[in-house]
Amino acid sequence: MSFPVLEFSGISLTYPGPPPIHALRSCDLVVERGDYLTVVGPSGSGKSSFLNLAGLLDRPTGGRYLLDGLDTAVLTDRERAALRGRRIGFVFQSFHLLPHRSATENVALASLYTAGRGRHETAHRRARAWEALARVGLAHRMDSLPTHMSGGERQRVAIARALMGEPSLLLCDEPTGNLDSATAQSVLTLIEELNDNGMTVILITHDLQVAARAHRTVAIRDGVLTETVPR
Ligand code: ADP
Ligand code: MG
Repeated sequence: MSFPVLEFSGISLTYPGPPPIHALRSCDLVVERGDYLTVVGPSGSGKSSFLNLAGLLDRPTGGRYLLDGLDTAVLTDRERAALRGRRIGFVFQSFHLLPHRSATENVALASLYTAGRGRHETAHRRARAWEALARVGLAHRMDSLPTHMSGGERQRVAIARALMGEPSLLLCDEPTGNLDSATAQSVLTLIEELNDNGMTVILITHDLQVAARAHRTVAIRDGVLTETVPR
């Protein structure tokens, strides 16, 4: 029996305020394994709120969210954190790397809480970090500091970090927003290669050309999610 990776039914998110902000209004969405979905919408429309819910960083105020068939509402905060660590990879616009740690350390730290901290676990984590860096084309940069890397290299490190838990879902919030257009293309190509190899990808962008590269696009406007007609 195989479940969709993500299933939103009537998902709403109201920030309490005052005044209350209806960031998402009764959203329905199904994302199947291997899908590549882009999310577009103007600033303030609810894109990051959507991603935060999908990534279990926040809880909806209404509706039901099944992740890999699991009802996320019944989970404790600790169970949600564990599930997030194992099933979700995040890539953000601003990389969020530790500046004084090497690429390998930045990537290895991603699984600190899921893989344990003993000597054996640490060595294993570093080996997996090298593998993840090799997957994003950065084997030769494993000892470099983020401060000595280009924006494109930093985003590749962030993608390697996201891959550490072997997630079922890769969530990207404007991953090319801080990159020049040539670098943005190569980062997108990398994300699309991961998708070709089976990774389910949800990618937020305000660039309609980027959005059009996906299998599917949904638009958010004032918290209302609408799937655009397939091309
Ligand atoms: P986007 O990512 O599309 O720019 P957001 O999801 O960040 O939009 O925000 C959607 C709406 O919710 C906006 O009106 C924003 O001001 C509001 N909002 C976002 N985060 C919070 C928060 N933590 N508390 C209250 N309001 C918020
Ligand atoms: Mg946002």
